[in-house]
Amino acid sequence: MDNKVVVVKGKDPYRAAKKALRHFSLKEWRGRRILIKPNGARLASPGEGVTTHPLVVEALADYLADQGVGEMAIGESCIFGVNSKEAFRVTGLKELSKRKRIELIDLDQGDPMEMTIPEGKILKKIKVPAILKRFDFIISVPVMKTHMHTRVTLSLKNMKGLLWRREKARLHQLRWNQKDSRGGKALDLAISDMALVLFPHFALIDGTMGMEGMGPSCGVKKEMGLIVAGDNPLCADAVGARLMGFLPEEISHLRLSAERGLGKIQLEKILIEPKDYLKWEKSFDPPPTELSLPFPDLVLHDQGSCSACLSTLFVLLHRYKSELAPHRLRDDKIHIGIGKHLDNIPGGTILIGNCANKMKKRGIFVRGCPPVASEVLRSLQSKGT
Ligand code: SF4
Repeated sequence: MDNKVVVVKGKDPYRAAKKALRHFSLKEWRGRRILIKPNGARLASPGEGVTTHPLVVEALADYLADQGVGEMAIGESCIFGVNSKEAFRVTGLKELSKRKRIELIDLDQGDPMEMTIPEGKILKKIKVPAILKRFDFIISVPVMKTHMHTRVTLSLKNMKGLLWRREKARLHQLRWNQKDSRGGKALDLAISDMALVLFPHFALIDGTMGMEGMGPSCGVKKEMGLIVAGDNPLCADAVGARLMGFLPEEISHLRLSAERGLGKIQLEKILIEPKDYLKWEKSFDPPPTELSLPFPDLVLHDQGSCSACLSTLFVLLHRYKSELAPHRLRDDKIHIGIGKHLDNIPGGTILIGNCANKMKKRGIFVRGCPPVASEVLRSLQSKGT
């Protein structure tokens, strides 16, 4: 491994990805079994900046075939509440798999297996689809996006989609010793733990259309026209983050992974082509640190929640905020409560998630751990004001 990262600018996602890949000889992969892991876990069409463009996946599949790899498949496990068949159709992965005759695997079907993480600080084991045993190499093909909990989501974070079913939500619900994460969150530490045993073998970052602001699904599209490829995915993520206008060292899960020896994030120690790649940098709006910034008429009572309920809240407010109007309280604000240590909330507060159960007599309670945004809305509509 050379710690080589190649950045290519181009309008056509297929051509740009192919051009980037040609810088890498993957001869040792000849005859081996490869799993391609795109970001295809949500109901979003190509070009929306949410899911990996299928033309990038197609370029990779063609390149791997040219290199003489053996078995090849595309695999994804959708986020909770998303129907995988529907997601595979909308993202274009189904059409690609049919046309190119590449197996498309819903990783949530079939049995799980456990992987132990002896060096894990917050995760000692994870549950993953047993079918992963079938593959020798995994290629992470994420979209260049900001993320409300991890600042950016690139190839390491994309591997979280290999966790089996609700194991993904468990990563948002961990208790941790803040010293271990050294300024990061529990989720950052969990991603770096997971990377100890599920580190992708190659990264192909789709930066053709990214997302800024309230990523990973509620932000604003950001056209970059870039592909970033790397034989060390942590190095590729460092370069990707820098092109988004962030310093790699300020992305906690990248820093923690580098400290554990998974790769370099100091850009001067990475072989980056072309040398003047920063001419393509475009600063992404960071995700908001507080929900009251984009939603000034919201009062959030967050005491002891985990990031899974916060994710639900982001999506709820982004998609359905106008439908919450009947729930305004006397101060003309919408009060929402999450977390297990809630107390002292005004009557009529919308209480989201099982942790808020103990306050349910004070407000409108929506169960789930976490409930998805559409369920919250349905539940509120059925309960009325
Ligand atoms: S109810 Fe919400 S805050 Fe509580 S553990 Fe579940 S997801 Fe986290």
